[in-house]
Amino acid sequence: MLYKAVWDDGSIIDLPVGKAVCVGRNYVAHAQELNNPLPDEPLLFMKPSSSFQSFDSEIKLREDLGEHHYEAELVILIGSVVDRDTVCYSDAVAGVGLGLDFTLRNVQTRLKSQGLPWERAKAYDGSCALTPFTPVTKHHKLRDSEYRFWINGELKQRGDTSLMINSIEELMANITQVFSLYPGDIVMTGTPAGVGALTHGDKLQLQHNNGVKYSSTVMIT
Ligand code: ZN
Repeated sequence: MLYKAVWDDGSIIDLPVGKAVCVGRNYVAHAQELNNPLPDEPLLFMKPSSSFQSFDSEIKLREDLGEHHYEAELVILIGSVVDRDTVCYSDAVAGVGLGLDFTLRNVQTRLKSQGLPWERAKAYDGSCALTPFTPVTKHHKLRDSEYRFWINGELKQRGDTSLMINSIEELMANITQVFSLYPGDIVMTGTPAGVGALTHGDKLQLQHNNGVKYSSTVMIT
C-alpha cells in the first residue's frame, strides 16, 4: 500500500510524499558505539519515498535482505520550500514525528569498506517507518524535543535535541546548501546510542515528549 503521512489526529496530511534527507552521526555516543569518527560537517544520505512505511500495527521487513538494525530518530516534516536563500528555517517546519531508520548493518559495513554508496543498506523498500506527525505552530520550540524507543518493554534509545551535535536549524541550513527541501519532504535528524538488530515479533514503541506512545510489531518475512 502506498505510504501517506498522517497527523496525530489520524487525518491525512495534505502534502506530497517527498524524499527523506537523513543525517548520520549527529549524536556523539552513537558515533562512538560504531567506532566512527565524528564528521567535520553533517553526514548526509537520502531515502526515496518508496522506502516509507507507517509505524502502525505492523512493520514489514524482508528476511532475504539480511539483519535489519533500528535507529530511532526525530523526524521533521517540511511544509514549504527551503533552499539556500532561506532565512528562517523554523517557519518551514510543518510537523514533528518519530521514525525508524532501518539499516542492513552488515551490508553497510561492506559498502563502507569498499568506499561505495550506502543506498543498498539504507534506502531499500520499507527502510523508513514513520509515526504520525504533530503539527508545529510558529512558536513551537524545535529545540526542546525528547523521545524514547522501547523493544518488548525495554528502553533501548533516548534522543534529545540538546544532545545533538548539530541542531535542527543547523541541519536544515547545511542540507539546503546542497539539497532544496520541498513541501512533504522529511529530515531524519540522526540516532542516539543504543542501536541494534530487530527480531521477528518484536513489539516496538515510540514516544515523543511524553505524548502518545505509538506501538507496532515487527514482521520479518
Ligand atoms: Zn540514521
